[in-house]
Amino acid sequence: MTSALRTRAVHAGRDDLTDLGVHAVPLDLSTTYPSRDSAEEAARIDRFAATGAVPGLPIYGRVGNPTVERFEQALAELEGFEHAVAFASGMAAVTACLLASVAQGKRHVVAVRPVYGCTDHILSSGLLGTEVTWAAPDAVGAALRPDTGLVLVETPANPTLSEVDIAALAEACGEVPLLVDNTFATPVLQRPGKHGARLVLHSATKFLGGHGDVMGGVVACGAEDAGRLRQIRFATGGVLHPLAGYLLLRGLSTLPLRVNAASATAAELVERLRSHPAVRAVHYPGIGGPLVAFEVEGDPHALIGAVRLITPAVSLGSVDTLIQHPASISHRIVDEGDRHDSGVTDKLIRMSVGLEDVEDLWHDLEQALKTC
Ligand SMILES: *Cc1c(COP(=O)(O)O)cnc(C)c1O
Repeated sequence: MTSALRTRAVHAGRDDLTDLGVHAVPLDLSTTYPSRDSAEEAARIDRFAATGAVPGLPIYGRVGNPTVERFEQALAELEGFEHAVAFASGMAAVTACLLASVAQGKRHVVAVRPVYGCTDHILSSGLLGTEVTWAAPDAVGAALRPDTGLVLVETPANPTLSEVDIAALAEACGEVPLLVDNTFATPVLQRPGKHGARLVLHSATKFLGGHGDVMGGVVACGAEDAGRLRQIRFATGGVLHPLAGYLLLRGLSTLPLRVNAASATAAELVERLRSHPAVRAVHYPGIGGPLVAFEVEGDPHALIGAVRLITPAVSLGSVDTLIQHPASISHRIVDEGDRHDSGVTDKLIRMSVGLEDVEDLWHDLEQALKTC
């Protein structure tokens, strides 16, 4: 019998602990691993160079770490993949996926706006040697070229929460790998792999960690892609610190509870915002979730300056409710015209609902909305 997500979120990556005779996950801070058998070590390094797989004992911190691997296994399982590869941040994960594509001689990327500001920037700037074509979801198929190595989409998208039909997009991609940034939905609300995504990426900094105290990124995928990503991680060095891996694994155990509780509160706040005279529009995904985007009639900066309980800060997915102005902060780096074209208006506010009581949050929002 396969267990429910809530059960696996608690036990994935920890199934061997009872046999080990420990309760908490061992935190291995080693940078290197001694071996008296250099010939065997050489054979394993050759295997890693050929396949990106690291069976057996660890070799060096940049190749792999046992604590981080527990987090990787757990996240892979929750997303329904065989493998996952963790990175120092969400952007390190995005970088590795783009470099993996370039390394295979495919430098063209098709992407759907909006995406997170830095992801937009790394694609638009061509910083990593890629060339991007921005396309509407129904125009992705027509935008593909022989040198297209990746199609990238966020759904729900940061910050407008617009959604894309993953199955339809995967179909349009054909043989070209589809990468879905699942940071906003988390595997609790959506598992893109089921609908044909080949790579599922998270800024683990957000809901997976869940407490605003750890940065990380992770990509769930099949064995071949995982091998490539590990080799790129080894070469470029964007590794996740073992303590971060420990904290992210801990975060996963409460992920379903946190996401479901915050989503219920968010849905209630959406209803109230929709009937508030100072609110021009409310954006909320069909699949639900803890993120709410809304446009105000007046000055968004005044509202953000007036909240007292809600934390006025960039980022999302923490236990506390966070509010920010995408045009000023998270999407500041995106060209103004492109920002507006993708629905990131100057009146848009993004709120990541946390675990506070709904009445306390509404009380704070209501008093802050008086300023705009
Ligand atoms: C924050 C974020 C990222 C980048 O993650 P970092 O951990 O900040 O590097 C990527 N995608 C989405 C959707 C994000 O919200």
